[in-house]
Amino acid sequence: MDHRGRLKKLQSVLERDSLDVLLVTHLPNVRYLCGFTGTSGVLAVCEDGNVFLTDGRYREQARAEVRGARVIIARKPPLAAAAEWLMENKVGRKKPRRLGIESEHLTVAGRTQLARLLRSELRLRETRGLVERARMVKDADEIACLRAAASLGASLFERALEVIRPGVKENEVAAEMEYAARRAGAEEMSFPTIIAAGKRSALPHGRASRAAIPSRGFVVCDFGVILSGYCSDRTRTVHVGRATGEARRMYEAVREAQAVAIETVRAGVSVGEVDHAARNALKNKGLARHFTHSTGHGVGLEIHEPPRIAAGQTEVLRPGMVITVEPGVYIAGSGGVRIEDMVVVTERGCEVLAPASKELITI
Ligand code: ZN
Ligand code: ZN
Repeated sequence: MDHRGRLKKLQSVLERDSLDVLLVTHLPNVRYLCGFTGTSGVLAVCEDGNVFLTDGRYREQARAEVRGARVIIARKPPLAAAAEWLMENKVGRKKPRRLGIESEHLTVAGRTQLARLLRSELRLRETRGLVERARMVKDADEIACLRAAASLGASLFERALEVIRPGVKENEVAAEMEYAARRAGAEEMSFPTIIAAGKRSALPHGRASRAAIPSRGFVVCDFGVILSGYCSDRTRTVHVGRATGEARRMYEAVREAQAVAIETVRAGVSVGEVDHAARNALKNKGLARHFTHSTGHGVGLEIHEPPRIAAGQTEVLRPGMVITVEPGVYIAGSGGVRIEDMVVVTERGCEVLAPASKELITI
């Protein structure tokens, strides 16, 4: 679907929710709806014409990128300019006019400023996740972007395998992977690369540090790139030195939990069921209490987006959703294992992006 199609679809959501205008301030939402990739801009979505406001730095870029909205280059910050534009242009025919704001993204200061500038001409209505809901299901173009990002991202693991050795610093491994990513065309990393070795592998979010890789133990590598605006996310865990029986059992338990969870992914299944499948597999091995985070998340223009694949979540999977499946086991003072892949939900199951063997690799 092109940007005009996305905007049209959102307009019918606004109608359903009795909103005359939606002020889109969250930049990934702005990008999704009208194509603007810069860092300063506000999009007003309304039934009688969409308007995108940005500042002079983005004059050329906005004209080249924005589709489905009139571009206004403002002299003041875009939020203030949007308020002014709304006041000058009688937007919507009904009274009182209702202006939706993205309550999860607009700052308190921004909201106060809007309320002051709009006086009582427009009533502010807090909305939550209107654009994010639309973004959950990816179209064919988006899936192609995610597939390309996933395969570039996956290639970085090859580099990690060349670099990971006892005595090498976690930071050096991350640096080599990130250098390879930029060389291969990545726009940037989708998050700070996680390289967590030895006891640090028990930290689920152990960003690469100055710590040296010990002579024996797990190394968790969690990494991703951004390509055409879309994020990749993948985790592989390797073992340095000979793996004990206990370490192997731990690795196999996580590998099996991930496989079981991936098998449950299918349109019509709730995200809570996918989480349960992973958790239950680990419970059978007595490891469930060491699995301390959710099973996965949506991924797209942002590294973490709805739906959350977690206990108690009721969102139902639909074809075209792209989610991660990433169970892990972390034993404080000892080590941890996580395995993560991105999958595209299909009618009958799912497609793993950049599939590869997940046998335990020892270095
Ligand atoms: Zn990850
Ligand atoms: Zn993830």
